[in-house]
Amino acid sequence: MTPQRRAIVAEVMRTQGHISPTALARRVQGDMPGVNASTIYRTLALLEEVGVLAHAHLESGAEYHKAEEAGHVHLTCSNCGAEDDLSIEEAKALVRVIERHHGFQPDLTHFAISGLCSDCLAAAS
Ligand SMILES: [Zn+2]
Ligand SMILES: [Zn+2]
Ligand SMILES: [Zn+2]
Repeated sequence: MTPQRRAIVAEVMRTQGHISPTALARRVQGDMPGVNASTIYRTLALLEEVGVLAHAHLESGAEYHKAEEAGHVHLTCSNCGAEDDLSIEEAKALVRVIERHHGFQPDLTHFAISGLCSDCLAAAS
């Protein structure tokens, strides 16, 4: 492993919660100005391949989680960008409704569900 890769992996391990590739690139490049963005993206993809990270698609783009923290459904407000999480437990009823439709098994953790948060809804009415 190159020192650049090691710096990227260390930064990933230090990050709590969502790991935005662009924010990660900014922090790594702050410590190590020579690291180019494609090395960072490749390293993230590699960490996903070996099962350390998992990605999800949010309103703002793809983000990574530590694989063991990825088990939740994202709710994203398409008006203000607020994010909330639904636990797998809470999403079970929804999964069952979808499964009943031709036995399709949804992975609700992969794409965010967009809509309006309660604040935006209150402001709109
Ligand atoms: Zn998340
Ligand atoms: Zn994806
Ligand atoms: Zn909102």
